[in-house]
Amino acid sequence: MSRFFSKKYNDLVPYVPGEQPKKGERVIKLNTNENPFPPSPRVLRAVNKREVSLLRRYSDPTCDDFLAELAKTYKVKKENCFASNGSDEALAFAFMAFCGKGVAIPDISYGFYPVYADLFGIKKTVVPLNEQLEIVVDDYEKIKPTVVIANPNAPTGICLPVSEIERLVRQDKGRLVVVDEAYVDFGGESAIELTKRYDNLLVISTFSKSRNLAGARLGYAIGDEALIRDLNTIKFSFNPYNVNSLTLAAGRAALKDKRYFEKCCKAVAETREYTRAELKKIGFASLDSKANLIFVKCPESLSGEEYYLALKKRGIIVRYLNGERIKSYVRISIGTKAEMDALIEATKQIIRGERL
Ligand SMILES: *Cc1c(COP(=O)(O)O)cnc(C)c1O
Repeated sequence: MSRFFSKKYNDLVPYVPGEQPKKGERVIKLNTNENPFPPSPRVLRAVNKREVSLLRRYSDPTCDDFLAELAKTYKVKKENCFASNGSDEALAFAFMAFCGKGVAIPDISYGFYPVYADLFGIKKTVVPLNEQLEIVVDDYEKIKPTVVIANPNAPTGICLPVSEIERLVRQDKGRLVVVDEAYVDFGGESAIELTKRYDNLLVISTFSKSRNLAGARLGYAIGDEALIRDLNTIKFSFNPYNVNSLTLAAGRAALKDKRYFEKCCKAVAETREYTRAELKKIGFASLDSKANLIFVKCPESLSGEEYYLALKKRGIIVRYLNGERIKSYVRISIGTKAEMDALIEATKQIIRGERL
């Protein structure tokens, strides 16, 4: 820390992203929930010579063309849509804009929520998941500050039905609920429709997982017009050109290729169920996931950290998350069928106690 660093950040503990192997390094990477398939071929055609020559210009600060396509896709108005530099940015803007009275988050969820709360000096109320690591809507009945949850939740993959989200939103119309739907396309139910009826619901999502564009950094928020105007107030006070022009073109093209999107999501969901079943046969049960990840519980003889390290030795990177309640778990992204077969084989070797 330099002597110039603001004192108020002295205790800030930054988010730690999953390891990114160097280009050309041969590992099976199942640690950051990226899509195992490349972006749609339409994306390659959209990010063309003309778009590259246009890089001399600033990108469109209103993200008009992209938002028009997003609105069409989700059957909402453009005024209900907001584009961001990854959904992390939309989340950050939502924390800045809507958490003046604090924020309530589950004890086990996306690791960025507490970091943003600390960065922006927002008071956190932590609501524990139940024994089965599920979000219990009734536990939020008396919660006053803005509620931020992921649905499906990370790292569990467990998804609440939309009826439960509606119950959460209806508990208190004077309280905002932010639902992070980063993983919803792999089998969950989106609450976007509800945003038409409830002005205290904001849905945030990303192109990083189900649209195969993690590196492009593209996210969005959908909600009542007034909420979107507030997000724009923050954005235009911070970084008006928040999404670059190549990414806007890529995002629009990805939205247009509905068939490819659905094909990839379906393949991931099928591979997820296959992997869960195979791992279960050898004593590694996992939670019922609707995401492109599974939260796998190791058998008694093995801690989550030991399993993580043993896989790493075999060239397979998964995510081990520190936390008292989740010590025996690792989070595994769903890759291709071949990658998951390699994971299953490595896991069998590990429980047989084979040395490398
Ligand atoms: C991956 C993820 C994000 C962040 O996505 P980006 O759009 O890549 O910033 C947000 N929320 C959850 C729950 C995630 O898993």
